[in-house]
Amino acid sequence: MIIVLKPNVTQDEIDHIVGKIKSLNLQPHVSKGQYRTIITVIGDEDIIREQPLEAISGVESVKPILKPYKLASKETHPDRTIIRVGDIEIGGDKIVLVAGPCAVEGEREIIEHAKMVKQAGASMLRAGAYKPRSSPYTFQGYGALGLKYLAKAKEETGLPIVTEVMDPRDVELVAQYADVLQVGTRNMQNFNLLKELGKINKPILLKRGMSATINEFLMSAEYILSQGNKQVILCPRGIRTFEDITRNTLDVGAVPVLKDFSHLPVVCDPSHAMGLKDYVTSAALAYVAAGADGIMVEAHPNPEEAMSDGQQTINFEQLVELKKKLASVALALGRGIY
Ligand code: PEP
Ligand code: MN
Repeated sequence: MIIVLKPNVTQDEIDHIVGKIKSLNLQPHVSKGQYRTIITVIGDEDIIREQPLEAISGVESVKPILKPYKLASKETHPDRTIIRVGDIEIGGDKIVLVAGPCAVEGEREIIEHAKMVKQAGASMLRAGAYKPRSSPYTFQGYGALGLKYLAKAKEETGLPIVTEVMDPRDVELVAQYADVLQVGTRNMQNFNLLKELGKINKPILLKRGMSATINEFLMSAEYILSQGNKQVILCPRGIRTFEDITRNTLDVGAVPVLKDFSHLPVVCDPSHAMGLKDYVTSAALAYVAAGADGIMVEAHPNPEEAMSDGQQTINFEQLVELKKKLASVALALGRGIY
């Protein structure tokens, strides 16, 4: 940690700051330059992070050296994390394609959708039983019943299931059915939910909050990791900007940054990023070109009939085409695809 002092700092103020740091059992080193004095602090940064040092007279700014997300950071974990879901290794050499409807629409329906997903060549099924809708008057999902339908779809196709959990009270139940538990954009900073998810032994797909910075995103991953669950997949899914043609703005730049700052795998959602079916494929290819370890898309045999998010949902033919194009981009990058 480096403490930058104000140009007019007095010796009394410097002595006070040095005394304060020593009282925390940390070592201060004062360096006086021609114009400025800085204090380098050696020791556990977490101790000093808790201190409101900028409140002390004579302090201009405090610059931490280490990332506050210790467990999510590459600084403390240089090897990339690979998360296993059945035979699939997320974060390894091959990229993964996850596809399915926005919501579980019924038992017969999700089985049909799962078969379509499998036939198109995707390796995992996504669908929400619990739906975080913007309006309380729209379809809210089948809830616990939807989880049972997902289990049937898995039984029929063998596809692992990715499904959202919205409430800390549902974590145990959802974990019985899901191979990967999804945290939606609106819950990225639901810290009680994140802490509960940190106590289970299942992979978590953590979506980026629609207005969250990359640091906030990684701090949310840290919440899960800090409770013991080391299986976190980061999911960029577009962010809010002034742009209003697309539902969100494609945060493709987040991918190389996340892969540089963190060892966690990155699986991106171009459907919610773009919000319009015609742009989903291009966005998916861009995410993979930028280094994503996988893509999760909304797909439905008849998007016109989808119970939610039909406007951004691709059909069977488009899903087949997407898989083909993803395979080419993966190949160009020296990677394969499941
Ligand atoms: C979803 O995946 O269906 C969903 C609701 O996503 P998000 O939380 O990213 O909006
Ligand atoms: Mn959706």
